[in-house]
Amino acid sequence: MPWPTLPDDDIVRLTEAEVIRQNTALQLIASENFASPAVMRATGSVFTNKYSEGYPGRRYYGGNQVVDEVEELARTRVCALFGADHANVQPHAGANANMAVYQALLEPGDTVLGLSLDHGGHLTHGSPVNSSGLMYNFIGYRVSESDERLEMDAVAELAAKHRPKLIVAGATAYPRTIEPEPFRKVADEVGALLMFDAAHIAGLIAGGVHPNPVPFCDVVTFTTHKTLRGPRGGCILSTSEHAAAIDKAVFPGQQGGPQEHSIAAKAVAFAEASTEEFKVYSAQIVANASALAEALAGEGFRLVSGGTDNHLMLVDLRSFDEELTGKEAQIVLDEAGITLNRNSIPDDPRSPFVTSGLRIGTPAVTTQGMKEPEMAEIARLMAATLRQRTDAAAVASLREEVRNLCEPFAPYPEM
Ligand SMILES: *Cc1c(COP(=O)(O)O)cnc(C)c1O
Repeated sequence: MPWPTLPDDDIVRLTEAEVIRQNTALQLIASENFASPAVMRATGSVFTNKYSEGYPGRRYYGGNQVVDEVEELARTRVCALFGADHANVQPHAGANANMAVYQALLEPGDTVLGLSLDHGGHLTHGSPVNSSGLMYNFIGYRVSESDERLEMDAVAELAAKHRPKLIVAGATAYPRTIEPEPFRKVADEVGALLMFDAAHIAGLIAGGVHPNPVPFCDVVTFTTHKTLRGPRGGCILSTSEHAAAIDKAVFPGQQGGPQEHSIAAKAVAFAEASTEEFKVYSAQIVANASALAEALAGEGFRLVSGGTDNHLMLVDLRSFDEELTGKEAQIVLDEAGITLNRNSIPDDPRSPFVTSGLRIGTPAVTTQGMKEPEMAEIARLMAATLRQRTDAAAVASLREEVRNLCEPFAPYPEM
């Protein structure tokens, strides 16, 4: 049979519109990046057609000779990249990876320590609306009131009090380095297992600019699409001891057939992340974040914890303008072509839907080649937009300035 000839004008038009959006506006969402053409080619490859429930060498369906090589390649590459004993590359997303780890290591109702959501933790670290919070007894640790950083003495105290079976390190909105070794010490003191959720910083770890948690942890999970710059997806690294339980929890525990096209793209991304160029890229992400944080501070924004060590910063808008909410800032900045997300700051007096803060990240703008001078320009454009937020003509003119800034750095100029 011939392929359908009906042109899908709607999706063609929408794809073109999205390419234009990505090429002409600033993508400052800390969890986003631009995947390479090689990663996107793999994502759109024939591996999308294959059913391969199971693992290399032990599949439920035939025809997996080539797929087995793809998945084995992805596993070998990621183990080499992070120095891990075992990898499961099948999780469809970071959330699935985390749920699989919980299923592998815990019984329903078990106690787990994780960073509180309103202090930078992730939904899958025990939010009451997420199945992690419904199934397990999560206790939240918090950043300190004085310097808004993790306080290991407080984590140790909570661990001694609640005797968790698992401690989860890692965050979704925390601008500082997370040292894995002190977490190991606390876990050992109470006989807990240790999981590090490196979703945001996997690329910084691979690039050698943040400490590698693998030697200190039972399990490390991460997403492949954030700083690591691969396809959307998740990955679990573990010691050999937990390998069988993790594999069983991913399939058949949490998922059905793996998405081998994504796994092929993960393999591409793992190879890209093991290059010298990626080390330079990772260092530039952090240098750009520092430059942007400094320039924003110069515009009157208070930075949570005083700055950043990684790819992201949290801005407290109240010092800039007492009246300005995160929600309003996100909307008007988007109109100016500056895309980011509102975010609660520690002990935010406003609701999580409104917030007093913004989260800003540099992985995507760094991929497109921007450096410190462009970070200063971004800070100026953000402050100008927020100061003139009720003046539609001024915002429209700032949108043009953003377009001009982005033009020489378009990530997909040939599309
Ligand atoms: C992004 C993120 C996840 C979840 O990733 P998804 O792919 O969106 O499911 C899990 N943990 C942390 C810390 C994250 O930042």
